[in-house]
Formats: sequence, C-alpha cells, structure tokens
Amino acid sequence: ADLLVLDGIRKSYNVGTPIETEVLHGIDLAMKAGEFVALMGPSGCGKSTLLNIIGLLDRPTSGRLLIQGEDTTSLPESALTSLRGHAIGFVFQYHHLISAFTARENVIMPMLVDRGRPDGQMERRADELLDRVGLIKWRDTRALNMSGGQQQRIAVARALAMNPFLVLADEPTGNLDTASAQGVFELMRRFNLERGTTFLIVTHNHDLAAQCDRIIELVDGRLTGDRRNPAIRKAV
Ligand code: ADP
Ligand code: ADP
Repeated sequence: ADLLVLDGIRKSYNVGTPIETEVLHGIDLAMKAGEFVALMGPSGCGKSTLLNIIGLLDRPTSGRLLIQGEDTTSLPESALTSLRGHAIGFVFQYHHLISAFTARENVIMPMLVDRGRPDGQMERRADELLDRVGLIKWRDTRALNMSGGQQQRIAVARALAMNPFLVLADEPTGNLDTASAQGVFELMRRFNLERGTTFLIVTHNHDLAAQCDRIIELVDGRLTGDRRNPAIRKAV
C-alpha cells in the first residue's frame, strides 16, 4: 500500500486578497514505504510549500493528503500535531539546532513531547543515534562549536529521534562542501536501507539525486517529471 498519496493538491497564498496566488496547481503523487526520493526543481517552484503540506505544517487549499491510507485533510489540528511529532522527521538546510545546546540535548528535544518516559531512556536513544551518525565523542559539545557537516549530522539524528516512518529534508546538504554533503546524504541512505524509513529530499545536487531510487521534478507548481533510477536495484 502507499505510505503517502497526494490527490489534486492545490495551494494558494494570500487567499481572499487581491494578491491571492496559486503556487501548487493540482499535485498527484504516490510514495511507497521505504522509497528514497529526490524532489528537484528551480527556486520558487513550490518545493518547500509541498514539503510543508506533506509534513502537516501547512494545509492545502484543496485536494487530499492521505498518510497510511488516512485522509489527513479532515483531521483536527491536535491530531496533525501528534502525527507530525511521532511519524514525521524534518531536516532543514539551516539545521535549526539550538546552538547553545549540546549534541545530545538537541537530539533529545523531539522526544520531550512524550511525558513519562523511563529514566535515562531519552539519553540512551540519543546516544545510540549519535553513535550511528559518528558523533558520540561530541555528545557533550555545544552545537555552535561544531562544523556545518557535524551540525547537519546532528540534525539527521534529531529527525530520526522518534523513529518516524517519513523524513522530509529541505536542501539538507545545500550549504555543505561536496564531501560533507555526500557524508550527510549517505547517512540518510543508510537509515533508509537499514530501517526502511521513507525519505523525500529536496536537492539541487544532480550527483546526489542520481543516488536516489526516484527523482520527482516540480516546475511552476506542477509535477513535470517522475522517474525511477534504473541504476539503483533495491527491493522496496
Ligand atoms: P521553492 O521551495 O521551490 O523555492 P517555495 O515553496 O518556497 O518554492 O515558494 C513557491 C512560491 O510561493 C514562491 O513564489 C514564493 O514566493 C511563494 N510563497 C512561499 N511561501 C509563501 C508565503 N508564506 N506567502 C506568500 N507566498 C509564498
Ligand atoms: P527556499 O529556500 O525554499 O527558496 P525562501 O527563501 O523562498 O525558501 O522562503 C523562506 C521562507 O519565506 C519560507 O518559510 C517561505 O514560506 C517564506 N516565503 C517565501 N516567499 C514568501 C512570500 N512571497 N511571502 C511570504 N513568505 C514567503
């Protein structure tokens, strides 16, 4: 079954005002669990808007968004908040870490939405993730004292803290040098292969997109391309 179905998603900004503008013009898209997908397209074409809608940060103006078969468009805000906190992880271009917090504290943050976890559980989970992203030695270092690549690795660990089934990444490697970008990308790919976490990654980097299972292209608010990568053989 599909993890994600977008059915005629439209989005307008400034609805009901003289500057009302439609930026997504009816997006139809289905993604299966375990897919690792690149979303490409020129600046301003609506990629972030689409990611915000899929990530339940914003609602479409019309159309339906189904997650695991459930129509989210009719859910109340409280249900969306819970789904967003437990089922979806986010990685942004500018990592949005709290710079005065340590690596471990940043990874723990998403877990604080669940009260009453047993003592030490959040710390153990954070350490396991920091180990997986190669930063366990930096556990007690504040984010501001770490490199851009390290900070983005922490952001990936944080996105996975709640073991979400979907991770949305908006240009996660956009401000990294080539080697760091490849490193952060491979980290996400490893989580995808090992745990089956589904990823949708906005990128302008053709080398990275070529390593994804599927490349979707958005131009001026319309899907203009959707192709599977023949070079990648993976049992999804
Ligand atoms: P991309 O991520 O592909 O660069 P965006 O989704 O950020 O594209 O933007 C798509 C279009 O919507 C752009 O023209 C942008 O200026 C406009 N836009 C984005 N967010 C808003 C907003 N909150 N209010 C009004 N217009 C917006
Ligand atoms: P991106 O890296 O996706 O191109 P932008 O710099 O276009 O990001 O947008 C950054 C933020 O500003 C986003 O939250 C977007 O929704 C908002 N935004 C973009 N364009 C507009 C606009 N015309 N009016 C209001 N907000 C906007």
